[in-house]
Amino acid sequence: MGHALVLNATYEPLCVVPSRRALVLVLNHKATSVEDSGSVLHSAAAAVPLPAVVRLHRYVRVPYRAGVPLTRRAIFARDGGRCVYCGAPANSVDHVIPRSRGGQHTWENVVAACRRCNHVKSDREISELGWAVRVAPRQPSGPAWRILGTGRHDPRWLPYLTGYGRDAVTGEATA
Ligand SMILES: [Zn+2]
Repeated sequence: MGHALVLNATYEPLCVVPSRRALVLVLNHKATSVEDSGSVLHSAAAAVPLPAVVRLHRYVRVPYRAGVPLTRRAIFARDGGRCVYCGAPANSVDHVIPRSRGGQHTWENVVAACRRCNHVKSDREISELGWAVRVAPRQPSGPAWRILGTGRHDPRWLPYLTGYGRDAVTGEATA
């Protein structure tokens, strides 16, 4: 069973819930499906399309939440799943300033990297290698990161995340 993106009444991305729960919101007239998943839930009485994206009818006030948790999934999402040094698919996390040299485990010092670059770089700094990072790493911000930080992915969600902090961080163009 898949998951669905929940949008606030204002279209601001809110959270990710199991598709079945999103369907219950629609059936109870609490939300409208704005994007179908293409999957159908069969019950004894009927076949109902499962939503991929729903929008709540009533505005929900979102409590303030401190920054995006620093997880491997969130780092990969921020860096677009690519090695920040060479652009190859990333499969490891690197500390730009190595921990052995006092580098911190913070958003400003961790990046997605491929194993090869990570291995070549070892405990050196990028200035010693003549390397550069494509974009200076920083903590992602914006409502889209409530979703991206979870590491869950559905390409149908992306149009609803654009403009809410996603493109500013990954450097992807806004359509
Ligand atoms: Zn690399």
